Amino acid sequence: MNISLEFFPPKTAETQTQLGLDSQKLAALKPSYVSVTYGAGGSTRDGTRRTVDQMKSQFGDVAPHVSCIGATRHEIQALLEDYRSIGIGRLVALRGDLPSGYGQGGEFAHAIDLVRFIREKFDDHFFIEVAAYPEFHPQARSADLDMQHFVEKMKAGAHGAITQYFFNSDAYFRFVDEAYAKGVDQPIVPGIMPITNFTQLARFSDACGTEIPRWIRQRLQSYGDDTASIRAFGHEVVTDLVDQLLTAGVPGIHFYTMNKAEPVLKIAEALKLYQAG
Ligand code: FAD
Repeated sequence: MNISLEFFPPKTAETQTQLGLDSQKLAALKPSYVSVTYGAGGSTRDGTRRTVDQMKSQFGDVAPHVSCIGATRHEIQALLEDYRSIGIGRLVALRGDLPSGYGQGGEFAHAIDLVRFIREKFDDHFFIEVAAYPEFHPQARSADLDMQHFVEKMKAGAHGAITQYFFNSDAYFRFVDEAYAKGVDQPIVPGIMPITNFTQLARFSDACGTEIPRWIRQRLQSYGDDTASIRAFGHEVVTDLVDQLLTAGVPGIHFYTMNKAEPVLKIAEALKLYQAG
């Protein structure tokens, strides 16, 4: 099974050290690669670069995320040349969302422009993955248009896609079927978010357009501050989801680790994706 793991750049020396410990535990999953997020507008530029270095020495194959909104072609070219010079061969290419106060501007309107730019300037050097939204992007004008934009982005030169996290497997299956019917033939790997903290999950989900089904939301809410129950129930729900996806033969599993080893390892162990040592 192709497992990939996503990390974000820690903000302090302490959390950077902690990430080293957690990622070391996660190495037991033998991920095919790990990815490192990037704050749009370059807000995590140094942190992403540091974390890419850290992960490269630990895992070898690292995919930095690159978000293009607000950036110039010159800036993106310099960033990618730097990555190429340190032996990076894959990227997750995104539009990104500018933090409030950054205004607009920049020379890329959508992720498809970044994909085209990477192919134009770097040919086949980078293996490019893009984002997919089984429940549709929050700014989508319609489901049809969002699908059309996704298909165009894939056909512009992406090698694969990773989905936004979801809890409705039908949304994923329908999305993939429709994309394939429209001529996409690259892998669309489900992104999986472990459930460990209801408040944070609800905030993220509202922002990114992921639905937390009512029966999950109600149960998580009913646990209040009882984090052990939230984690235990969350583990069951997400393990069942991954199990369904694996049974259906998905091309891989991309874990949004949130820089924490334990929730991911527990799911992987329950599904016998690795053996705890
Ligand atoms: P796009 O593909 O450009 O789509 C964005 C919206 O524009 C959609 O509504 C789409 O329908 C519409 N659209 C696309 N093309 C066109 C067109 N030609 N004309 C009109 N409308 C169009 N964000 C970060 O800042 N940093 C990260 O590291 C990061 N990592 C992520 C990793 C994954 C796997 C995922 C799923 C998301 C990630 N994000 C990250 C979030 C992402 O940047 C946001 O969801 C952002 O709002 C959209 O980015 P995109 O690349 O999907 O954009």
